[in-house]
Amino acid sequence: MNSIKDLGSKIVYNVKNARMIEIYSNCENVEENIKNKSLLLKNKVIYVCKICKCDDTRVLVVHHLDKNHKNNNIDNLVFLCHNCHHLVHHHKVKIK
Ligand SMILES: [Zn+2]
Ligand SMILES: [Zn+2]
Repeated sequence: MNSIKDLGSKIVYNVKNARMIEIYSNCENVEENIKNKSLLLKNKVIYVCKICKCDDTRVLVVHHLDKNHKNNNIDNLVFLCHNCHHLVHHHKVKIK
C-alpha cells in the first residue's frame, strides 16, 4: 500500500500552490500559521528559515518541531521556508 507521504510528494510535484497548502494543512493550517508567526516575531525570533537561512518572507512558514500543532509553545516553533518544510516532512531532513 502506498503511504500518504508518497502520495503527498507526488501532488507537490505535479500540482502547484493550491494543493501544496492542502498538504501542509496536515501540520500547519494557514490561520494558525499567521498567529504563530506573530508570536515568534514578538519573541524576537529571527525571520529566516532555520535550515537554509533564506529570508524571503513570502515563503516562510511556522513549523512545529514535535509535529503536534496544538503545542504552540515558543520552543516548539521554528521558521522554515516551503522548500525546507517539505524536506523535513517528506524526506526526514533534520533541523539542527
Ligand atoms: Zn529553507
Ligand atoms: Zn511543519
